[in-house]
Amino acid sequence: MTDDPSAAPKAPSKPKSHGRISVQASLTPRDLMGTPQVAGAWQAKIITLFPDAFPGVLGLSLTGKALDLGLWALHVIDLRDFGIGKHKNVDDTPAGGGAGMVLRADVVGAALDRAAVGTPPDRSQWPVIYLSPRGKPLDQAMAQRFSKGQGMTLLCGRFEGVDERVLHHYGIEEVSLGDFVLTGGEIAAQALLDATVRLIPRVLGNQSSTEEESFSDGLLEFPQFTKPADWNGLAIPEILQSGHHGKIAIWRRALAERLTKERRPDLWRAYCAKHGRDPVEDQEQ
Ligand code: SAH
Repeated sequence: MTDDPSAAPKAPSKPKSHGRISVQASLTPRDLMGTPQVAGAWQAKIITLFPDAFPGVLGLSLTGKALDLGLWALHVIDLRDFGIGKHKNVDDTPAGGGAGMVLRADVVGAALDRAAVGTPPDRSQWPVIYLSPRGKPLDQAMAQRFSKGQGMTLLCGRFEGVDERVLHHYGIEEVSLGDFVLTGGEIAAQALLDATVRLIPRVLGNQSSTEEESFSDGLLEFPQFTKPADWNGLAIPEILQSGHHGKIAIWRRALAERLTKERRPDLWRAYCAKHGRDPVEDQEQ
């Protein structure tokens, strides 16, 4: 499903093709029912040694549906295509010695050049990101920022990572999924894309659900309950069944604050600073 974004739009050659091109080229009933204009849809370009890993989980549920509808598009660039010689080598041993292999600067550079075709050079509109444990940890504010641009290029590392020169030369932003080491950048890329794409208008059915959920206001989300009203002798909190929306909102906020204070003192301090509150004051009611 390697997709050359510089190529002229054409009918999809494989059934797995996703995104704008397939939507424009096929007259499915959905198109006839007035699908959204997909020109200018948010786009992701992924550089990876494992193109089959995409769209992966992004092809399921709401993100997958949005992909089929052309609300966002995915272009996968196979790093192997830029490999050197008969064996299409993409990596070599680390300069200075040590274990493992490093992705070559010339190979990664050629893939980044390909990805840059047809993308705006303004990094605020189109960030170029290397998924890396050394990067800034991914958070909701980052996902919000990314979702407001036109798209992004994601470089998935493998082995010991990427030659440092290429990261500097292309002014690449490094983003981490967290303080642990994965085998490759693909899972991290999908996590980043999932967090970003769901913030694009119309990708989630109910837009207000992104406004109330965890982190949106710097707090963790309040506890949720649903049917049955009694489960294993445990009842849903009475207030949630009162129908009194004002009181429910106050209760939820109090619980969100308590949870945040208990579990994430870092978030709690930032929230208090933002709202002019004393972080040691007792919020319990
Ligand atoms: N030697 C590197 C780790 C390489 S892991 C180091 O110690 O920093 C191989 C690849 O997996 C990396 O190039 C990166 O793309 C990806 N990766 C590993 N952990 C990651 C994390 N926490 N966040 C994002 N990407 C990660």
